[in-house]
Order: sequence, then structure tokens, then C-alpha cells
Amino acid sequence: MSDRYAVMGNPVAHSKSPQIHTRFAELTDQALTYGAVHVESPDFETEVGRFLQGDGKGLNITVPFKERAWALAQWRSERAERAGAANTLYRLEDGRLAADNTDGVGLVRDLRDNHGVKLAGARVLVLGAGGAVRGVMHPLLEAGVGSVLIANRTVSRAEELASLFTDEGEVSACGFDAIPAEAFDLVINGTSASLQGELPPVPAAVVAANTACYDMMYGAEPTPFCQWAMDLDAGRVIDGLGMLVEQAAEAFSVWRGVTPETASVIDQLRASLDTK
Ligand code: NDP
Repeated sequence: MSDRYAVMGNPVAHSKSPQIHTRFAELTDQALTYGAVHVESPDFETEVGRFLQGDGKGLNITVPFKERAWALAQWRSERAERAGAANTLYRLEDGRLAADNTDGVGLVRDLRDNHGVKLAGARVLVLGAGGAVRGVMHPLLEAGVGSVLIANRTVSRAEELASLFTDEGEVSACGFDAIPAEAFDLVINGTSASLQGELPPVPAAVVAANTACYDMMYGAEPTPFCQWAMDLDAGRVIDGLGMLVEQAAEAFSVWRGVTPETASVIDQLRASLDTK
């Protein structure tokens, strides 16, 4: 029997993770299977235990269970600890349940390595203060960004989140209406507004000719945020497909000790979105 992996969530049927990890396994010549496991909320902890035994070697965790995965773990990487959420579970050699969070490193690699966005010293505006934003804060600050302003619809959530990271760098918070009308080097949309076809109310002045705009969401069509950034002639406009593939590559590397090549997988996934 080959080693088994899966993504666990609810809903999970739409997940691209099986397609991505199966391709990684082919590219790196690893014998494994990767599926999708839909779990009902009360069963999450039991199902994790059931999966991670014998040849069940690793799980990716998606909505709405990332915080519960974090809480369940008996060991956490520093980036998972700081994220307060886990997207990657596996067992240590002594049998303890280990949690990691690879979302933030996925974003950093996509920005810096795939798209050549300079992070060192960058002035960054982050829109949103939910789980995804919390997950990327430590890796962004670790990558040396100069400052991060977190703007959120619910200002108190932005303030709470900023306070968790002020020990790591220059981090502040505000509501959308208090965003300064000045250009940033990088604007990241970490809200789920695009899911509703909406755009957070952000002043156009935050985008200049050399601003990189990144939406953590992605789709066959440009997201409302990406379209807005293109209309403003932003220097770079990037959606979250690369982040998705890069976070998967890091999880694969944590489990298997080999880092797969990602460029062809991103291209393939993009092509499959375009044809749907
Ligand atoms: P959460 O539900 O934890 O947070 C949602 C955030 O979006 C909150 O800050 C919320 O504001 C804000 N928001 C929701 N609707 C609107 C709106 N209409 N206008 C303005 N702000 C709004 O979600 P997550 O943090 O888990 O996910 C955020 C996004 O990131 C999702 O689109 C998800 O798909 C994407 N993501 C992408 C990944 C990738 O690999 N590419 C990985 C992880 C996430 P408030 O606090 O006021 O409610």
C-alpha cells in the first residue's frame, strides 16, 4: 500500500489540492495517493485521528477547521504557532500530532520568487483581518517587509490582529475609511469580498505605477480586486493561484522531504481554470 494523504474540510469537493499533490507526486516520483475527505463538524477531531494512522501520513486542513487543527496538535511549528491555525498535519516519529501552516510561505514565495516582487523594506497594505491574513503576517514580516498596515471592515479585528505582530515589526491597523491616500509598494487583498463579487472600499491613491497588487483569491476571470488594480494600471496584478500551489509544495516538502517544481503545476492549473 502506498502512503495516503488528503485534504479535509467542509466543503471540500471543489478543492484543487488532490490535483496539485497528485501532480507533485508524479514530478518527484513519490508513491502516494491524495484524496479529499468531507467531514461534518462534530466529527473533525475523530476523523483526523482515524486518518492519521497506518499508511495515512498527512492531512491538509481547509475551511472551517484550521483553528481546530491547530488546537488538536501536540507540536506546532513556529509559523503555525503564530498563525493560530494549521493547514498541514502529520505525525512525528514519537507519534505526536504535528501542525504546520504553509499558507504564508506560499504567499511569500509566489510574490518574491515567482513574480519578482521586492519584499525587503516594502510598505504593505493588507485588506482583511481574518484567518488568511493572520496566517501570512509572520512570513511577510520574516521576509523583511518595512511596514504593514492592516485595514478591515471591522476595525477592532484589525487592531487585535496588529497587536499580535507588533513585536515582529512595524504593524498598524485602521478601518477602510482611514486608509491614507498614498501609494504603497504592495497591496494584498486578504478579504473574502471577491467571493461576493465585491471590492473593499479602498482609495485609488494607494496604487501607483510601481505598486504590486495581490488578491489571495483566484478564478478563471480576474477577481473584482484584480480588475480594479488593472484599471488603475498597477505595476503588477497577481491572483492567489500561485499561493495555493506554493503552500501545497511546502506541505509536500514537510511530509516527503522533497520540494516539487511548481511553475508547470501553476501553468497547468491556470489552463484548467480557463477551460471550465
Ligand atoms: P475569514 O472569514 O476568516 O475572513 C474574511 C475577511 O474578509 C474578514 O476580514 C472580513 O471582514 C472580510 N470581508 C468579508 N466580506 C467582505 C466585504 N464584502 N467587504 C469587505 N471585507 C469583507 O476568511 P479567510 O481569512 O479564511 O479567507 C480570506 C480569503 O483568502 C478567502 O477569499 C480565501 O479564499 C482566501 N485564501 C486563499 C488562499 C490561497 O492559497 N490562495 C489560502 C487561504 C485563504 P470582517 O472582519 O469585517 O468580517
